[in-house]
Amino acid sequence: MLKNLFHITAIVLLIIALSSCSSDKDVVNVYSGRHYQVDENLFREFTRQTGIRVNLVKADTDQLINRLELEGTNTPADVFITADAGRMIQSMDKDLLQPMDMSALKEAVPFNLRDPENYWTGFTQRARVLVYDKERVSPEELSTYEDLVLPQWNGRILVRSSQNNYNQTLMASILAEHGEEPARNWAKGIVNNMAQPPRGNDRDQVKAIAAGIGDIAIVNTYYMGLLLNSPNEEERNIAQQMGIFFPNQQDRGTHINISGIAITAHAPNKENAQKLIEFLLKPESQREFAEKTYEYPVNREVEWTPLLKEWGTFNADTIPLDKLGQHLSQATIIFHEADWK
Ligand code: FE
Repeated sequence: MLKNLFHITAIVLLIIALSSCSSDKDVVNVYSGRHYQVDENLFREFTRQTGIRVNLVKADTDQLINRLELEGTNTPADVFITADAGRMIQSMDKDLLQPMDMSALKEAVPFNLRDPENYWTGFTQRARVLVYDKERVSPEELSTYEDLVLPQWNGRILVRSSQNNYNQTLMASILAEHGEEPARNWAKGIVNNMAQPPRGNDRDQVKAIAAGIGDIAIVNTYYMGLLLNSPNEEERNIAQQMGIFFPNQQDRGTHINISGIAITAHAPNKENAQKLIEFLLKPESQREFAEKTYEYPVNREVEWTPLLKEWGTFNADTIPLDKLGQHLSQATIIFHEADWK
């Protein structure tokens, strides 16, 4: 009898141990430099479908990179998300990532938007375009990023700080295309044509056009989507006054950046990380990003939303984003030399 009870107790304890262990396993920890409600909604849907709970830590991307470095092998993070390819490449160079299994994903993501060794992949894409005041600028006057240094744009260009990831990756693309000396001249030419010293984010550049401070802003497409659909009427009106121009259509195409996703080098829940990445690349999730954050899907099977269609199709620069990594440190130096704040 006593022996039986002992047996039963042991079995019960074993079951408790196993179930607590399996509940520990039904989790994926995400460090994200993105701050969108749609991400959280999709994580909730992932949990509903798989039973895997998503723990989300949102912070500035550079802070998260520091944290991953400090935590080293003890990191709880499984998945790392950035809003820019450049920071993903830097994280890979710091050995903070590990390759994922892309066998099910290669079809979903064009080769130029992912790492060739599968250390990271894009899961949304954004175009860095020119936004202009429809009354003061005609699209016929616009052509390329390079031509923004022409004298006719003196005192009319709005662009955010060179500390910003999007500008650093854009500069890396100019370096990749033209080399150092032309890139240096471009940076100086833009600084020379700025309507004001850089301040604020991409949205603030568009607002500065509306305030009459300048006429053309270098902006990521989705910010126009956010303004056009803003709960604030004034923001909606501002966006209505603006045109969107996709530069460099006659040559390499408009500069594209991504939101990137990766599995961390020491992920405790690697399989769940893989599942979450696969989930975000499914057509249904891709469509959600297009609907809610006005980003372009990376998955080519996904039909664009009416707003993206309205902006029109365009030629995108297809340089593999991983190739921009080698130019990032030079980009920072050039910005500094040109006194691009
Ligand atoms: Fe952004």
